[in-house]
Amino acid sequence: MVSFDHKSIRLFEKIILVFLNIFNFFRNKNNLRILVYHHVEKKDFKKLYNQLKSLKKKWNFITPKEFENHLNKKNILKGRNLLVTFDDGFKSNFFVEKNILNRLHIKAIFFVPSDFIKLKSRQKSQKFINDNILDHLKPKDFKKLKNMSVHDLKILLSKGHEIGSHTKTHANLGFMRSVSSLKKEIIESSKTLGKLLQTDIKHFAFSYGNYESMNYKSLKIAFKKYDFIYSCLRGNNFYNYKDSLIKRDTVYLDSSDDLLKIFLSGFIDLKYLFQIKKMNNKITEMRKK
Ligand SMILES: [Zn+2]
Repeated sequence: MVSFDHKSIRLFEKIILVFLNIFNFFRNKNNLRILVYHHVEKKDFKKLYNQLKSLKKKWNFITPKEFENHLNKKNILKGRNLLVTFDDGFKSNFFVEKNILNRLHIKAIFFVPSDFIKLKSRQKSQKFINDNILDHLKPKDFKKLKNMSVHDLKILLSKGHEIGSHTKTHANLGFMRSVSSLKKEIIESSKTLGKLLQTDIKHFAFSYGNYESMNYKSLKIAFKKYDFIYSCLRGNNFYNYKDSLIKRDTVYLDSSDDLLKIFLSGFIDLKYLFQIKKMNNKITEMRKK
């Protein structure tokens, strides 16, 4: 059996990157990618700061509003653009904003499950995290985890960030067949957030966001309710037409920055191409009905 050590994986990533840089030099330069982070452990704050700071040298970080205007064709972007998003509504995201995004002048979208952000005790918060969000992977600081409060979200909004729905209970909608349950997760969550935050919720990110987590019924309900629907399938959103599924790049803070550069180069997009095509065909079909 062949096994790779840490060093050879890193070297492999470096070699791939050199080829990708040559390849990208000849390609269309228009790019619009979206990063998705989740809970950020305290030990990774420095890494995240350095990562975003170094990306800023080559990428134009856009605001949620600029992203909306690009997709609505009100103001078309140019070059290499990047939007930052956070899923799940962990308290750590609030501190990331305060200590990192704020310092780098980055505006982000925070996707939160509406049931989660209403929780007021650590005990209930931990139960929710355990049962609904982190079913198997537990970070080392699990005991310190909790949700952002409604007050936290209001502060984020006042600082120019955007809040989106990430369902009601963080359910996997791909396995949900009942229309009334799906409506609760997709529509009721937006109503609750809208009421609590006194704002219009226009953005929705599927929990999990992989191909299996988005079935026909859930897509139909989501596209009827929201203007912007996000998956976790990787890809370039520059040429998205209205009503197409938005692609995002999940970032793992425990892996190398070179791996992130490989994701951002679009090298791995091929893996998702057919899934996205199938999804968008489903959506077009729905539109005709
Ligand atoms: Zn999630």
